Amino acid sequence: MPDSGAYDVIVVGAGNAALCAALAAREHGAKVLVLEKASEEERGGNSTFTAGGFRFVHHGVEDLRKDVLVDLSESEATQMYIPPFTAEIYMDDLLKVTENLSEPELADLLVNRSRETVVWMREKGVRWIPMFSRQSYMVKGVQTFFGGMAVEAVGGGWGLVDFLFRAAERNQIPVRYNTALRKLTHNRKGEITGVTVFGPDGYDDIAAKSVVLACGGFEADPEMRVRYYGPGWEMAKVRGTRHNTGDGIKAALDIGAAAFGGWSTCHAVQWDISSPPFGDRVVLDNYQKHSYPIGIIVNVNGERFVDEGADFRNHTYAKYGREVMKQPQRMAVQIFDQKTIKMVRDEYRIRQVTKAEANTLEDLAQKLEISAEGLMRTVAAFNAACQPGDYNPAILDGKCTKGITPPKSNWALPIDEPPYSGFVVTCGITFSFGGLKITTDGEVEDTTGRIIPGLFAAGELVGGVFYQNYLGGAGLMSGSVFGRIAGNSAGRFGKG
Ligand SMILES: Cc1cc2nc3c(=O)[nH]c(=O)nc-3n(C[C@H](O)[C@H](O)[C@H](O)COP(=O)(O)OP(=O)(O)OC[C@H]3O[C@@H](n4cnc5c(N)ncnc54)[C@H](O)[C@@H]3O)c2cc1C
Repeated sequence: MPDSGAYDVIVVGAGNAALCAALAAREHGAKVLVLEKASEEERGGNSTFTAGGFRFVHHGVEDLRKDVLVDLSESEATQMYIPPFTAEIYMDDLLKVTENLSEPELADLLVNRSRETVVWMREKGVRWIPMFSRQSYMVKGVQTFFGGMAVEAVGGGWGLVDFLFRAAERNQIPVRYNTALRKLTHNRKGEITGVTVFGPDGYDDIAAKSVVLACGGFEADPEMRVRYYGPGWEMAKVRGTRHNTGDGIKAALDIGAAAFGGWSTCHAVQWDISSPPFGDRVVLDNYQKHSYPIGIIVNVNGERFVDEGADFRNHTYAKYGREVMKQPQRMAVQIFDQKTIKMVRDEYRIRQVTKAEANTLEDLAQKLEISAEGLMRTVAAFNAACQPGDYNPAILDGKCTKGITPPKSNWALPIDEPPYSGFVVTCGITFSFGGLKITTDGEVEDTTGRIIPGLFAAGELVGGVFYQNYLGGAGLMSGSVFGRIAGNSAGRFGKG
């Protein structure tokens, strides 16, 4: 048995949720240790691969300048429009995309603690800027933001993680790299006594009064993907870290924790078909292809299969990867013409892109090795179905198609100005939705609804926040809100 009480709090993982938990626990004077399965070079989990976009409640640019965008000048602020994002809108959007399944108490915390947590992170050293390149369009001379997510960490995911690691250093929180949780230890009463880890010198038992699990979901484990999502999912590309293999979830389930949330669904996007099996720490999220709302998507038969303009990208991208997974050869092609190609996001202009360009649709299809007949038939029907109206990609413009299935509900412009461009994508998984059941204090519940004394959880491995679909920027926000909550509870518990 390990010594009891060497650390007040062990935090498992070193991504955004874990580091927020460690910083919060430290505020209570707790002796904290962070365990990271990855090497120092690969630290930071999926959080490093992100754009660093956070979704939180605010009342527009002037409000944000007070305590979040503190570096934004008056003249910069007057050239942009950031629509207010109220708690009511946040909650409505979250419930809409999760089909009203998001656990009410967790959803309430995510929404109503979002702003104060972003301000708390700034106080810990994270700096914020408006998300110009991805979340705004120039409309009548004003940089107009859309989709409810307007702010990112300076330096994106790398920047975010670096700010948090620097804060951990300032707060004398040690990090043990190459050290993976294998088991949670407990006494006869069921109270957590520490962890068993596997590190550079083999197995080790580390004692602690409390443990915060923040070591990600199971998206990087092909066996679990097939088990919970079905045949073919072992072939999905993993967008982020290879280290999130469900270890924290499995260790907690092994000591009786309850499984909770959307175990059969996940966040998955359209991702370049030639990308490597796991995330690339240089290309980062640029393998994603997220300008489909202004184009069309077809499968290898040249047929459309989703409403590309159903809603803002932020509300559809996380579920459309799963739709691509259902297509023949798990692939699809996004098509743009000269009217729209100029507006696509920067990720379409990287060197590592699988694309073709041609002056006719027939040639384009041949280059892409998809059905030319199918593509020409689909585009002809699509063009004929486009209704008149004012095109505006910064709002839901209602410029739709009529009489085709699936429809395109907004931003429907005919594809008729060559040359045409096609980008080939497959399914890239971001993170799993199923996980552990926590209380509003971040305590882990067992299968009888009792709290496991000393065990807390945050981040991707918490179930019940996201089901079926997801809101862009809510993953990091959830990790920070619940990381801070779990860290506070563990810090209090560990010092108690
Ligand atoms: C390409 C990409 C882009 C994204 N963009 C955004 C975005 O802009 N905004 C947004 O809100 N969300 C985004 N997300 C989702 C976001 O990354 C996650 O929601 C969030 O980072 C999860 O944070 P986390 O701390 O729970 O997990 P992670 O950041 O993945 O951290 C998990 C940590 O646990 C470690 N670990 C795993 N197993 C063990 C073990 N056994 N022992 C010890 N350590 C272990 C890992 O090495 C890692 O350090 C994106 C994800 C990806 C992949």
